[in-house]
Amino acid sequence: MRFLLLVFLATRLLFGASEIAQIWSSDEIKAHETGEFLRFSLYKLEGNETGPTLLVVGGVHGDEPGGYFAPAILAARYKIKKGAVWVTPNLNAESIARSRRGLYGDMNRKFAKVSDNDRDYDMVREIKRIVLDPQVDLILNLHDGHGFYRERWESSIFNPRAWGQTLVIDQKTLADVKFGNMDEIAKKVTDKMSASLAQEHHFFRVKNTETRYKDEEMQKSLTYFAVTNLKPAFGQETSKNIDSLAQKVEYHLRSIEEFMNVMGIEYERDFELSINGVQEALNYSGTLKINGKIGFELTELRNILRFVPLQGDMKDRFVFDNPLGAMKKIDDRYDIYIGNKRISSLYPQFFAYDCKLDKVTIAIDGENKEIAIGETFALKDNFNVFAIDNIRVNVIGFSKKGVTDESSITIRKKDMVSRFSEDVRGLIYRVEFYREKNFCGMINAKFIK
Ligand SMILES: [Zn+2]
Repeated sequence: MRFLLLVFLATRLLFGASEIAQIWSSDEIKAHETGEFLRFSLYKLEGNETGPTLLVVGGVHGDEPGGYFAPAILAARYKIKKGAVWVTPNLNAESIARSRRGLYGDMNRKFAKVSDNDRDYDMVREIKRIVLDPQVDLILNLHDGHGFYRERWESSIFNPRAWGQTLVIDQKTLADVKFGNMDEIAKKVTDKMSASLAQEHHFFRVKNTETRYKDEEMQKSLTYFAVTNLKPAFGQETSKNIDSLAQKVEYHLRSIEEFMNVMGIEYERDFELSINGVQEALNYSGTLKINGKIGFELTELRNILRFVPLQGDMKDRFVFDNPLGAMKKIDDRYDIYIGNKRISSLYPQFFAYDCKLDKVTIAIDGENKEIAIGETFALKDNFNVFAIDNIRVNVIGFSKKGVTDESSITIRKKDMVSRFSEDVRGLIYRVEFYREKNFCGMINAKFIK
């Protein structure tokens, strides 16, 4: 099987959740091949009122989904009113896309020393720079760890070597540093967390690894790097042995909120912090734009889409607004992932793209509107695409005998064959534009009630 992983690279650090994008293009594939690739996303959520800054790092381990979905939701759904929260949901983005702990070894053991030909070199160097930013007051590194930490051995799941349901500190305090009372802070947060649990055995504890004296392995970790540079840092672990992703994410988010409370960071979120609320947030997958000409809503996308007009030859550019978005090319299909969830497989039909079309005019429920290529328009009853010279319109799921150009036809939901919809509910349909053998772009018609 040919397996080609195209690594996403957000090529710049972007500010504000809505602007974040995962970008996959031929340039970046080249960069990946030459070893110059990298880049996770950094969201800077800044309040209007000044205050402390919390840095939340997720996804250092690519097989710990609670540790990367929680910060993705934090970045997308929280608003900071006082202070600031910087979020990197996907530090080890390539490993996340492959559901592996670390494709090039354990990234969290590369913070004391990393060789410049290590594939993780750029990412480690860049996150270190962010950790050391004078604005950053406290760092959380998120994980889903094995088992449930207990002070005494009970079983292979419940024991002193387990990491699950802990806040890990490398040492008790950092003298003369704001928030340097790490043991007290960790105790406060774990007590708060343990006061309301889904199940009794999920309680949280502080685990002090006493890294300087006792733990050579942990001396190579991100948190120890931070602490040795006088930055308070905590490893935040839920348990891999909790099956529900929503439960792990809820614990992570609640713990992050406790840290914000301790630090005096004021925030709001636009969903309820409950299992259902988190599940709903997890269900939202965002949008995918391809080549600036195609747009898909990923949340209820069918798991297979055929005849997607692509260019091939590594020219296609996939842009996600979800930091966990990734595309993997496998044989003749393009698999679309959000974190470890496969959303859809796109089977392409290749076209030249030699056709420039920015917007089209459509009568939507009788009212003429301009719609930009790649966008979705909502309609209640009918739409009718204005004819454009030399351009052929193809509404996928609609056909009329003897008609090849489907412009200037009033189309209703009852005219559509629902198995051709993009979405599982049969509401969204592709409207494609071609000039001779060239693909010009696509828009989506979305029937709403
Ligand atoms: Zn981990």
